[in-house]
Amino acid sequence: MTLQFEALPSRRGKPPRHLADLAPEDRRTAVAELGQPAYRADQLSRHYFGRLLDDPRRMPDLPAAVRDTIAGALLPQLLTPVRELSCDDGATRKTVWRLFDGALVESVLMRYPDRVTLCVSSQAGCGMACPFCATGQAGLTRNMSTGEIVAQVVKGAAAAAAGDLGGTPARLGNVVFMGMGEPLANYAAVISAVRRLTDPAPAGLGLSQRHVTVSTVGLLPAIDRLAAEGMQLTLAVSLHAPDDELRDTLVPVNTRWKVDEVLDAAWRYAAATGRRVSIEYALIRDINDQPERAHRLGQLLRDRLAHVNVIPLNPTPGSVWTASAPEVEREFVRIVRSYGVTTTVRDTRGREIDGACGQLAASVVE
Ligand code: SAH
Repeated sequence: MTLQFEALPSRRGKPPRHLADLAPEDRRTAVAELGQPAYRADQLSRHYFGRLLDDPRRMPDLPAAVRDTIAGALLPQLLTPVRELSCDDGATRKTVWRLFDGALVESVLMRYPDRVTLCVSSQAGCGMACPFCATGQAGLTRNMSTGEIVAQVVKGAAAAAAGDLGGTPARLGNVVFMGMGEPLANYAAVISAVRRLTDPAPAGLGLSQRHVTVSTVGLLPAIDRLAAEGMQLTLAVSLHAPDDELRDTLVPVNTRWKVDEVLDAAWRYAAATGRRVSIEYALIRDINDQPERAHRLGQLLRDRLAHVNVIPLNPTPGSVWTASAPEVEREFVRIVRSYGVTTTVRDTRGREIDGACGQLAASVVE
């Protein structure tokens, strides 16, 4: 098996340039290159990031002639919705998006009593080949651009604000990079996207850095790079097994960076940022749910700045694996907690619409 750590060279060219690809100072340069005064860049930012608008016809402060030039050059439609599915009484909504070159990605919007969270994709497909994950089965198509990543959030925030999640309008406050792809294998685009999400409005969306979670299989050099960015992001590490023998099979990148190395990088991240690291553990019946493994996990995480997030396995089509029995799950959690490690069980939002963790496969039947 070959793991793909870097972008595959694209045979089909890059996604069109978008306002969201550009840092604020580069937006002014881009507008100047179109023969427009620099303040137009701020107007566009206010519309796109501040008001979540990308339709130039709804930007009355831009003269009609200018709208076409600027909008054509800086606000191309990067995402076309191909399919939308809801469940949980409208509180969970999955959208399948088509990108400019036909690649498909998905994002999932989830409304909870106290918050709205969007799960975004960072790559079309994924090269990490985890055998229990639907996206991992399909392989990597390509990296997404910053603009494509940010557009999922702007569209999600606009839908939440419009009251599309059942009930009253709500503010999108949390973003998790837990959709399709390995975010740290698309490092530059993901970091710029995070800056667009967390820069104060109207330069960016003004989300709190702490409310943005980057989830990784454990690409060690990239974890260290992330720790050096000086941001307060939440890091999630997909551990899924406390021992190398099993983790080599569940998360194949473990053959390159071992459990101890990945956890050491996680603790360096915690030390650099003061942030508690989230350790993800997809609980799979008779595979990684034994009491010995719970003890080993507790021992590894005891007295660390860590939190365990147990994810009941969402079975993917064709897989023989399934979630652990409820009493096995309870016992697993009890043992890990007995080491003083805070542990929660993730709810299984979006199951019926294949929108739960690891189910995103972007299959579209037309
Ligand atoms: N590439 C990143 C983001 C992937 S999705 C990463 O691996 O962290 C976010 C989480 O969902 C990861 O912890 C992933 O391992 C988990 N996951 C994938 N498939 C799953 C499945 N079928 N059931 C439960 N969790 C799954």
